[in-house]
Amino acid sequence: MSRVIIIGAGGVGNVVAKKCAQNDTVFTEVLIATRTVSKADKIVAEIHQHLPESKAKFTTASVDADNVPALVELFNAFKPELVINVALPYQDLTIMDACLETGVHYLDTANYEPLDVAKFEYSWQWAYRERFEKAGLMALLGCGFDPGATNIFTAHHAKHHFSEIHYLDIIDCNNGDHGKAFATNFNPEINIREITANGRYYENGEWIETQPLAISQDIYYPKVTTRKSFVLYHEELESLVLNFPTIKRARFWMTFGESYIKHLSVLEGIGMTSIVPIDFRGLKVAPIEFLKAVLPVPESLAENYTGQTCIGVQARGLGHDGKEKVHFVYNVCDHAETYKEVQAQGVSYTTGVPAMIGAMLMLQGEWKKAGVYNVEEFDPDPFIAAMNQWGLPVDELAGIELVK
Ligand code: NDP
Repeated sequence: MSRVIIIGAGGVGNVVAKKCAQNDTVFTEVLIATRTVSKADKIVAEIHQHLPESKAKFTTASVDADNVPALVELFNAFKPELVINVALPYQDLTIMDACLETGVHYLDTANYEPLDVAKFEYSWQWAYRERFEKAGLMALLGCGFDPGATNIFTAHHAKHHFSEIHYLDIIDCNNGDHGKAFATNFNPEINIREITANGRYYENGEWIETQPLAISQDIYYPKVTTRKSFVLYHEELESLVLNFPTIKRARFWMTFGESYIKHLSVLEGIGMTSIVPIDFRGLKVAPIEFLKAVLPVPESLAENYTGQTCIGVQARGLGHDGKEKVHFVYNVCDHAETYKEVQAQGVSYTTGVPAMIGAMLMLQGEWKKAGVYNVEEFDPDPFIAAMNQWGLPVDELAGIELVK
């Protein structure tokens, strides 16, 4: 018997809601609260249509998650045990503030990012540790796929395969095709800000910065394909190198098609990806916000999406027998299958399922500690078992080095 609020009704919110509906012994009453309430209503209508057997009771509400008093009022009225934040990273701190004020546990999938600075790091949210501890509340950060499942895969390596991890490579391939010339798979503003930023990886205690997309290599993604992959900075690196201090080097690799990079470099070259507002007919508009309005909404890509994603973590280091070894843990997800199941493309699915799983483990008390945590600080076993149960099967590959 758990009451939960999901904030955000975009691509990820849709998947979280439908997975909660499937898991109705844990999630009994769910409120989807978001800025544009019609999107939440559409999700609930689809739940009634596609999952008529679900006993979970869904309601919707409109809320501005930038506004703490509005959130407090909503939380006090609904009295949830937990809030699943799948709005945008800009809302993390206001939602955490409202959770502290009303005594509600918190979970998100992306770390805080100020609207006016293209910079994301955990420091802002880690600064809430003591307040959550004192309040006896738990905040679980970054519980999507990457961050999220990738942190869990690293914890799995550390628990079951290695006495010391030395080299960590997280690899993320979307080998899907949505048939559009240019579109982003999740919120365009967040996606483009991430990719146009400088690359960064960790080596021997230091962060090495590179030009955007400056380092690349061809990587084989098991069961899917070989694709050119680029080093970019990704937020889970920050917590992983702290929580696994034997790591000497940690990198994150992602695939981008030539056409995607060509479009992005033209858009960047003409200033369309800038977050600095310009005057336009008396309005202050950040070009990237305008660009977002022109691009397809990520949910709209789902219907005709084909192909698969493959995301995994390669670790190299010393095994429990003290010998050098390499091991890979990964998931492959099929866009057309996820559309059939929850009317979503694979990128939303791979994010939304881990968010539901993290929430379930918190509500069941399996993962429960007062304070602010990243997912790798908990036992990975129940999480991986739940991934296998709830649509994201986990595979392993021993002894083959995919990333040099
Ligand atoms: P979308 O843009 O599709 O959805 C965001 C939702 O949040 C929309 O419903 C939007 O409302 C709502 N929202 C935005 N601002 C507010 C606000 N101030 N108050 C209330 N609601 C608001 O994004 P996605 O679903 O693709 O992504 C959701 C989150 O998941 C993001 O934080 C993203 O970074 C994260 N993510 C994490 C991944 C991971 O693996 N860890 C991977 C992919 C995404 P409206 O409809 O009105 O715009």
